Amino acid sequence: MARPVLNAPHFQDEAAAFAYVEAHLWPNGPVCPFCGETSRIGRLNGKTTRPGLCKCYACQKPFTVRMGTIFESSHLALRLWLQVMHLMCASKKGIATRQIQRMLQCSMKTAWFVGHRVRLAMAPGAVGPIGGQGKTVEADETFVTKSPKTRRQPHERANVQVLSLVERGGNVRSMYLDHRSVRSALYQHLDRDSRLVTDGAQHYKTFMPVGKHESVDHSKGEYVRGDVHTNTLEGFFSIFKRGLVGVYQHMSEAHLDKYLAEFDFRQNTRAKLGINDEQRASIALTGAKGKRLTYRTTDRAEAQA
Ligand SMILES: [Zn+2]
Repeated sequence: MARPVLNAPHFQDEAAAFAYVEAHLWPNGPVCPFCGETSRIGRLNGKTTRPGLCKCYACQKPFTVRMGTIFESSHLALRLWLQVMHLMCASKKGIATRQIQRMLQCSMKTAWFVGHRVRLAMAPGAVGPIGGQGKTVEADETFVTKSPKTRRQPHERANVQVLSLVERGGNVRSMYLDHRSVRSALYQHLDRDSRLVTDGAQHYKTFMPVGKHESVDHSKGEYVRGDVHTNTLEGFFSIFKRGLVGVYQHMSEAHLDKYLAEFDFRQNTRAKLGINDEQRASIALTGAKGKRLTYRTTDRAEAQA
C-alpha cells in the first residue's frame, strides 16, 4: 500500500504529538479538565511517566490533554490519531475504515472508532440557522441509493434523502432527513430572512415569506437564471456520492449524519478558500474538544446576539 508521506515530528514522535495537540487545545497553557485550574499545574516528567501527563495541585488529579476530547478512552498513540486525522482531511472523498485498519495495523473496531471520532471533531458545534438578511441560500436534496450488494438491516430503506443548504460565499450544511420532511428541516436550519434559491420542488414553494424565494424549473430545462441555480450543491453532491460509492460502501443510515459532517467539513475548508491539507487538519483538531455531533437549533435571538 502506498504510504502517504507523514514526516512531520507530530506524526512520528509521541512527545511531539502531545506538544502539537496541546498547542491547539490549550493555547494558553494546560487547563485541568476536572476543576478548570490553569495556574497550579505541574508537568510530570519522570522517566517512566507517560507523555503529556500533568498534575493539578488544586484538585490533586492527574490528567493529559486527551481528557474531554475525541482522544479520550483510547489506547491508540496520539501520533497515530494525528495521522488518521491528517489523511481524512487530505482525502477529498474520505478514507475507508479498512484503509485506516491497514495503516495503523489495528483492529477493524479500533479503525471504525477512530474514523467516527475524527468525524465528531469535524462536525460543527452548536450552530444557529444558516443565512440571514441579505444572504442568499441555496437548498437542494438528493437521494442516497445503496448498492444492491450492500447488506441491509430489515428496517433500512434502499433510498434515503439528504438535504443540503449552502449560504453563497459561506458554509454548506447537510442533513439526513430520516423521517423528517424537508420543511421541518428548513424550519430548523434556515433563517427565513434569507433569500432562498432552489429547483422547482413543491416543498419550497410556500415556505418563505413572499418575495424571498426564487426557483429554476428543471422540468422545463431551466437550470440557471442569473444567480438562481443549485449548481453549488450539485457539485457538492457529486463529491459526496463519489465518496459514498468509491470509499464508504457501507455507510449506514445510523451514521449518515456523521459522514455528511465529514464531507461538509472538507467542503467548508476546501483548497479553493486557500486552506491547505495541514491547515485543514489543524482546524479539525481544534474541534476535537467541546463539540457536539448533533446539529442544534439555536434560538434566533441567541443566534443574532
Ligand atoms: Zn484540578
